Amino acid sequence: RAKEGGRGTYHVFDPTMHQMALERLNLETELRYALNRHEFLLHYQPIVHLKTGKIQGFEALIRWNSPTRGLVSPSQFIPVTEETGLIVPLGQWVLKEACSQLREWQKLGLVDDSMSVSVNLTAHQFTQVDFCQQLDQILAETRLSPHHLKLEITESTIMDNQRSAQSILQQLKSRHISLSIDDFGTGYSSLSYLHAFPVDILKVDRSFVQSLDGSRENLGLIPAIFSITQAMGMSAIAEGIETAIQLAQLRHLNYEFGQGYFFSKPLPSEAVVELLKTDPQW
Ligand code: C2E
Ligand code: MG
Ligand code: MG
Ligand code: MG
Repeated sequence: RAKEGGRGTYHVFDPTMHQMALERLNLETELRYALNRHEFLLHYQPIVHLKTGKIQGFEALIRWNSPTRGLVSPSQFIPVTEETGLIVPLGQWVLKEACSQLREWQKLGLVDDSMSVSVNLTAHQFTQVDFCQQLDQILAETRLSPHHLKLEITESTIMDNQRSAQSILQQLKSRHISLSIDDFGTGYSSLSYLHAFPVDILKVDRSFVQSLDGSRENLGLIPAIFSITQAMGMSAIAEGIETAIQLAQLRHLNYEFGQGYFFSKPLPSEAVVELLKTDPQW
């Protein structure tokens, strides 16, 4: 019962909050079943080598094909799985699916030895004590060479877990699995961690790329981030390239790799096969 306390009275029962809590509970329950019911799938977005215009690899991006909600985007459910811990089995499924998919394309002769697959990891997944053992098992089962796998984490995953990150990243390094920092530039302002951790690739967040409009005034941090990668022996991937003008500017600035709707949206695996058959060059 609501208290009678004059101003500042609180309500014990707030119908909208109740509704939200119910909806959240439904979502959690549906997600828990979704894995066993095979409702998840991966789409793949090409990552393009800007000098040659050829596909260098694919980023695996999860989708949820829910019988009640339709195709749900990861930003709507990955945070929930992260909070409930469901991300651990789900993330293992993603890794295994992505590795076996690339292995299959290799066997079909659709991709050469330079082609890699990139998989996104949350902090919860990355800091599992047995993460590397799980990874070894998946690579052994799918028979994918670790050279062909790239992992993507964000700056905050490293910074919030500095001690465990150090040892996990060393273990990845010894396996020749390369590591990308996703959404680079949107997180921590300090760059010192780049020295302390073995990072191979910076993926420049699409917010930086989207302000490229052909003028020299709107380059923003794009040239500076490129200089950092050069100084530290890393590669740069520009995310979210949507226009020919953005692509031309990034090429002019010597960016090595790019990804975005200008080349292709993330595609279901059958569409990737069709794309690979045409051997595209942008
Ligand atoms: P992300 O790793 O930064 O992935 C890039 C996102 O940008 C993808 O959204 C992609 O579809 C979108 N994108 C690519 N090119 C363009 C473009 O030119 N313009 C615009 N506007 N967007 C573009 P998506 O697939 O919705 O994924 C969102 C985020 O969800 C990902 O961001 C990643 O953080 C997370 N995510 C996706 N799949 C997985 C997964 O398997 N595991 C985990 N842990 N996280 C995932
Ligand atoms: Mg990513
Ligand atoms: Mg990103
Ligand atoms: Mg992102």
